Amino acid sequence: MGSRGLTLFAVPWKNEDGSINNLRIRRLKDKLGVRAVPSAEVEFDGAKAYVIGDPNRGFYYMMEALNLSRICNMVASIGIMRRSYSEAKAYAERRDAFGKRLCEFPMVQKTLTELKQKLEAETAAIFELIQLYEKITNGEATKEEEALNRLLIAILKKESAEQAIAFAHEAIEMHGGNGYIEDFVTPRLLRDAQVLTVWEGTANILGLEVIRLVNKFSVHEIFIADLKERLDGMDAPELVKWREDLKVRLEEFASDDRVTQELKAKSLAKEMAELYEQVVYVGM
Ligand SMILES: Cc1cc2nc3c(=O)[nH]c(=O)nc-3n(C[C@H](O)[C@H](O)[C@H](O)COP(=O)(O)OP(=O)(O)OC[C@H]3O[C@@H](n4cnc5c(N)ncnc54)[C@H](O)[C@@H]3O)c2cc1C
Repeated sequence: MGSRGLTLFAVPWKNEDGSINNLRIRRLKDKLGVRAVPSAEVEFDGAKAYVIGDPNRGFYYMMEALNLSRICNMVASIGIMRRSYSEAKAYAERRDAFGKRLCEFPMVQKTLTELKQKLEAETAAIFELIQLYEKITNGEATKEEEALNRLLIAILKKESAEQAIAFAHEAIEMHGGNGYIEDFVTPRLLRDAQVLTVWEGTANILGLEVIRLVNKFSVHEIFIADLKERLDGMDAPELVKWREDLKVRLEEFASDDRVTQELKAKSLAKEMAELYEQVVYVGM
């Protein structure tokens, strides 16, 4: 049966006469984070609903919407990354420990530098993707660009969400014990970041998406060609070498059996995201 026949509906909250439609909020969920956005279990019992578009293409419409909501997830992720970095830096600049400002310690400087570099690269890559996505929504993209767009959405959603959690963790660490205390924003950053890897597709589901795109559209070849074009004319021998190594591993991956592909998908997705980010960042 699959997804054919699934229909998308719009269900208004209120009827035209102002009365509430036949729907019931069974309960609001008690969540770890994102408490500012209520999540509920909703019952539709004889509720008035409007079919959206072709009744057979509801799943397709949701998949299209998912591309956008994954991009929104990325932007939320870099938001948490930036706030975490800013909080960590500000704290390091005002807290004294063992007779020095935290920001004078080499280990603290290294942490802040790495966070800043990753934040800038992640932001650059995501906004580069948004330009490509815009080209697609304007109907100006080639088939190859459409496949590349799907791949970048999968790998950058996964990477940025994981980084949001890693950054929130580092912000807590930089604050020491204070970072764990609700007087500071840091516990909320970690709680809010934690959902970003779950909703809009978990890492495993995004890994499966990478496999699908490689097997169906040979997207790894498009990805590697895109990187080559970006690297041509750039003075970045380490990135060129990384691209060549990754090309070999992606070609192997494309001919691996299914189980091996599933075992490799997430680590390759991470590496693809990291390389893409660096190439975009250095090329800016
Ligand atoms: C706060 C919140 C709000 C949400 N809001 C919405 C919303 O507005 N609309 C909406 O549609 N959804 C919403 N979701 C649902 C969310 O998208 C799903 O929870 C999420 O996609 C994971 O699906 P699941 O819960 O069914 O987990 P499951 O599919 O049961 O997955 C559980 C675990 O198994 C893994 N797994 C599943 N299948 C495979 C596989 N084939 N191979 C390997 N591993 C696998 C997953 O990666 C995950 O780690 C929301 C979730 C949360 C937490």
